[in-house]
Amino acid sequence: MIQIRNKIGSAVPDILSGKGRSVADAHKVEYENGAIDFKFDPKIYGNKNVKEKLIELQNGKCCFCESVIHANSYGDVEHYRPKAAWVQGNEALNKPGYYWLAYDWDNLFYCCQICNEQFKKNYFPLATESNRAKNHHEDISKEDPLFIHPVNDNPEDHIEFIGDVPRPRNSSAKGKVTIERTGLNRDKLNDKRKRTFTALNHIYQLVKNHPDNPPELKQNAINVLLEYHFNAHQDETEYASMLRCFFRKNPIDF
Ligand SMILES: [Zn+2]
Repeated sequence: MIQIRNKIGSAVPDILSGKGRSVADAHKVEYENGAIDFKFDPKIYGNKNVKEKLIELQNGKCCFCESVIHANSYGDVEHYRPKAAWVQGNEALNKPGYYWLAYDWDNLFYCCQICNEQFKKNYFPLATESNRAKNHHEDISKEDPLFIHPVNDNPEDHIEFIGDVPRPRNSSAKGKVTIERTGLNRDKLNDKRKRTFTALNHIYQLVKNHPDNPPELKQNAINVLLEYHFNAHQDETEYASMLRCFFRKNPIDF
């Protein structure tokens, strides 16, 4: 998971600022009339323009696991604060959800179906439950989510990698919860990261542990490492957070 810097200050798609806002206003009126269930319109928050803009800003990667979402597997438009209901722990669904943010640009991300539908679902825990905004009159800025926000937080402050396996950085509670509840440590994902990690690590160890390599061979290997290092700092690179973590721990200093 990396910070989606492209989304900071990005223009809100017209469908959200127009139709989305008026439907959200209608939900607020429904709430005042006692509703806790709402008929959300996926044609608005999941509109082609919204999805395409998110794909562009996120370089086609899932906001959580950083896998490139290929055209043959559908990605979801994910609500950071769940729209219909929320869950703090393992209890039943609490309603209403964050209905007033169903069409809010800051609350929307592009996400693979596994992260979204098998793991995150309606989960949205706070460090202090009493600070939860339970309707549109209450202030979400008072909340202290235990879930990393892909724009407002820098996920790399909260999650590090041991090889290809994620773990909380500096005992971050946000890191721990996000890893567990988006399945960042799932086997199939670790296997995919491992392929990248193993190739990189082999070359690194080759140079590090065999300083007497022929100079030409050594320089070629360093050039490959420099390319990995460059790619690690491009947001479009798959599993960039793992690569950045590798180079924090293993600088190219030889
Ligand atoms: Zn994912």
